[in-house]
Amino acid sequence: MWRVREDTATNQFWDNMVETKRITDWLTRLVQIPSVGPENAGPRSGDSSEARLAAELESLFSELGAEVETEDVYPGRPNVYATWRGESERWLAVDIHMDTVSIETMEGDPFDGRIEGGRVYGRGAVDTKATFAILLALLEWMRERGTRPPVNLVVCATADEETGAHGAAVFRDWVRRKGLRLDELIVAEPTLCGPINGHKGAVGVILEISGTAAHSSKPELGQNAITAAVPVIQALVAEQERLRTTPVATELGPGTLSVTMIKGGQALNIIPDRCTVSVDRRLTAGESAADEAGRIVALATAASPLPVKATILHELNPFYEAASKALVQQLSEWSGRAPTVAAYASNAWAYEGLAGTVVLFGPGSIEQAHRDVEWVEISELEQAARLYLRWLGVSES
Ligand SMILES: [Zn+2]
Repeated sequence: MWRVREDTATNQFWDNMVETKRITDWLTRLVQIPSVGPENAGPRSGDSSEARLAAELESLFSELGAEVETEDVYPGRPNVYATWRGESERWLAVDIHMDTVSIETMEGDPFDGRIEGGRVYGRGAVDTKATFAILLALLEWMRERGTRPPVNLVVCATADEETGAHGAAVFRDWVRRKGLRLDELIVAEPTLCGPINGHKGAVGVILEISGTAAHSSKPELGQNAITAAVPVIQALVAEQERLRTTPVATELGPGTLSVTMIKGGQALNIIPDRCTVSVDRRLTAGESAADEAGRIVALATAASPLPVKATILHELNPFYEAASKALVQQLSEWSGRAPTVAAYASNAWAYEGLAGTVVLFGPGSIEQAHRDVEWVEISELEQAARLYLRWLGVSES
């Protein structure tokens, strides 16, 4: 019998402080492998990407008995997929992003991974290498005892979360190609171990209106791109008003649309031949990023007397699960924290319909993420590890 007796598994793991040290040792080691996303690289980070961390995780997961595959999200920036086969029909998955934000303004050594005052410090400590450390510690501990989780477990180490969140779409397509039917999918983010069951989506569009330059003493010889932008902006304001007054069914609140930048003109005495208008659209549950991007382009095209060229910067769907879903309720009960929705976006944008339930969950607070000093409380790591043992069906307490 390979399975740990349920009533004693947690104690077996936690009786000994060595097991907490096992998690913090892993976290220190992972923080010490820089994985700043290339878009966030700077003089201090040098050339950077997730590649080194991905290679390290690939071999660690293999050593821990997983079937491992990698798939490039961008050249040299792979997702790593690790699958542990269980003996039940249940399929659980965890998405943990490898990339971190910039370290350029951080205090001290951002990659020292030091342990001090009950915390582990360094870039990625809370966002989001903590969950890698926990799963590596649990799987390593089980392997040493000849056990493994009873469920089927897929861990996806994703590239490119912090900028484009494109690694998530690549993982989603991999799950579909494999024909996997995931029961539950956790997206690792710092949630103080409580469940986050929704966040808004986002669409970014730049509208470029083209006119014809002329001397402003003879404006009739030109086509003024700035004045052509006026009815475009009026149409966008009307759309924002429509969104504000449309009733919504979830705690995500209404979708919003904001005109956030306008650029145009060359000189006081030249009729402007170009004007760009930037639009930031936030999507609520039930809205589709592709549809709403298309609607913005159609509104602008219909309103403008001059040609409009649209560039879509990003199309991220909203994420929403009813708080009544079993996994959301379970995590809430186990952590003592009510389900909440997040102000930030995550890889969950890509996962609608991919699993029975999708939820954001992980140790530590988002308030410590992206800061000049980043850390995670060791007590949070312990709590998350306990919850992972329960979720994986290894223990009941
Ligand atoms: Zn994150």
